[in-house]
Amino acid sequence: MGDFQKERLAMVEEQLRRRDIYDPRVLGAMAKVSRQSFVPADYQAAAYEDRPLPIGEGQTISQPYMVAVMTQSLELKGKERVLEIGTGSGYQTAILADLSQVVFTVERIPTLIQKAQMTLEALGYRNIFFLTGDGTKGWQEKAPFEGIIVTAGAPEIPKTLLSQLAEGGRLVIPVGPRYTQTLYKVTRQGSRFQEDDITGCVFVPLLGDYGWKEE
Ligand code: SAH
Repeated sequence: MGDFQKERLAMVEEQLRRRDIYDPRVLGAMAKVSRQSFVPADYQAAAYEDRPLPIGEGQTISQPYMVAVMTQSLELKGKERVLEIGTGSGYQTAILADLSQVVFTVERIPTLIQKAQMTLEALGYRNIFFLTGDGTKGWQEKAPFEGIIVTAGAPEIPKTLLSQLAEGGRLVIPVGPRYTQTLYKVTRQGSRFQEDDITGCVFVPLLGDYGWKEE
């Protein structure tokens, strides 16, 4: 059993602050959330390493830095309704739940969302709502959202998600070919959508009606 608290603070300093993560709320949340709780037992010793890790079903928990970049881009102040597509381990969900009012999270693989829900409830989170299904359709009944985050790589930006974005809201999403993408931040300004690219990245594919087709 490693000294997780010490490793976590070192991760925040070396992997986040020393790069370009400056939002004190993001740094605070990542210094607080126990990433080892979201990682399979075999990988717990590696929970604070600078890389993604396998979580089963061919999926991964994102690298801490990528979680931080995406969260910082959402510019959360605490009052937002946030939609997350790709619950996976639930680690990103926990960070979002600490920084916003309520998180709606969608995952297509039932075993993963069930496990994530158990982990998050055990940690005491009460402001997260879970949906099993195709997140490329968004979550229409709960829209609009001030923040939308997609944690799987999309071939293009799903129009459904743009339509569920609140005025001034931000969508953060990796877009591009199957094995390498660009992280985009899309900001809604009336009928206009301002697109900014943030960084290169590699995500597992977003599979669904408005994503990649399943083989
Ligand atoms: N944020 C998660 C990342 C998990 S990997 C974490 O750090 O643990 C991406 C997740 O997106 C996978 O669990 C995958 O099953 C899920 N996914 C892929 N396509 C999806 C879709 N159309 N709807 C919902 N989830 C999807």
